[in-house]
Amino acid sequence: MIEDWDEYGFDTRAVRAGQHRTAEGEHGEPIFTTSSFVYRSAAEAAARFAGSEPGNVYSRFTNPTVRTFEERLAALEGGERCVATSSGMAAILSTCMALLRAGDHIVASRGLFGATVSLFDNYLARFGVATSYVPLTDLAAWEAAIRPETKLLFLETPSNPRMEVADIAAISALAHARGCLLVVDNCFCTPALQRPLALGADIVVHSATKYIDGQGRTLGGAVVGREQELAQVFGFLRTAGPTLSPFNAWVMLKGLETLGLRMRAHSENALELARWLTAQPGVGHVNYPGLPTHPQHALAARQQRSFGGVLSFEMTGGREAAWRLIDATRLLSITANLGDAKSTITHPATTTHGRLPPEKRAEAGIIDGLIRISVGLEDIEDIKADLARGFG
Ligand SMILES: *Cc1c(COP(=O)(O)O)cnc(C)c1O
Repeated sequence: MIEDWDEYGFDTRAVRAGQHRTAEGEHGEPIFTTSSFVYRSAAEAAARFAGSEPGNVYSRFTNPTVRTFEERLAALEGGERCVATSSGMAAILSTCMALLRAGDHIVASRGLFGATVSLFDNYLARFGVATSYVPLTDLAAWEAAIRPETKLLFLETPSNPRMEVADIAAISALAHARGCLLVVDNCFCTPALQRPLALGADIVVHSATKYIDGQGRTLGGAVVGREQELAQVFGFLRTAGPTLSPFNAWVMLKGLETLGLRMRAHSENALELARWLTAQPGVGHVNYPGLPTHPQHALAARQQRSFGGVLSFEMTGGREAAWRLIDATRLLSITANLGDAKSTITHPATTTHGRLPPEKRAEAGIIDGLIRISVGLEDIEDIKADLARGFG
């Protein structure tokens, strides 16, 4: 059995890492649908409970299918350990619960995923953990926001829906100089395109619901990093219980096997669509890190393997023009989800970011004419033709 996956390429790890065949000799990974496990003797039960002998006890703690997913994702992110969670939000919650206590402080990028902001402001705040928000790309603002009690820096890159790109290496250096940990939500890129741990980040969190599943079937999440911090995250998870189900872990495992292929295809389609959009009538700025006009294009080219599957653009005719374009589509799904084989189209100002007060929305650059597309795996000519109906 292979233990050290470092010498293997990304796609090989995505297909193979973490599989532990049983005596049955199965080729595919089995789904262990069992809540608990049995022991050959009272002594073995005692040893498993004491942790002096490795092995499963209860699926809130560990499960073989979930473990295979965790080992495979750890190998892809280049982390010592991964723990899987029931959703992306459970991954972020578990990280915070494991590493923070009352009196601690978080510095986070503005424009994070809405539920993450709600978790920080409406729940962690109640337990004495405060959060300050800074513009994602402003290094001086990150530095100035760090206080003696700051424990975590938290960011998403590229950001949603403006697709701004943060310099992970530079922000890691800032965090470490002040004794903080950097947590990166790597949902938009996945390890196929970006490996934050290799750039200096301490912890990666995932909504596996998006590209890791890749086909919109299940919810899941994960935390990846060093043993030291991940042992604490695991401790919270086995106590509090937002663990990944074996079935969902199996779906995610199958997702990982095609992750490299899919991310290359998503990126290719998105780049082509971004270029095409810049030439369409009524379209203002197109936000996509793969375009040379993007303010962090050079950084994205250095930091990411390709530019990802999500883009946004402005309709100069405002909300009315944006809604007209959305309503003219027949193929694209009008939904806020992303990271699916199916292309999706969203009007952020009235959906994902609709609850923000207008001034916060303006601050985050969510103008009324903005449209976000998660470019799927359909034929690019069909995606263009579907949008062309609205431009015509
Ligand atoms: C969807 C999403 C989450 C939350 O994940 P769930 O699986 O829905 O809980 C967190 N961060 C980002 C960037 C997301 O897109």
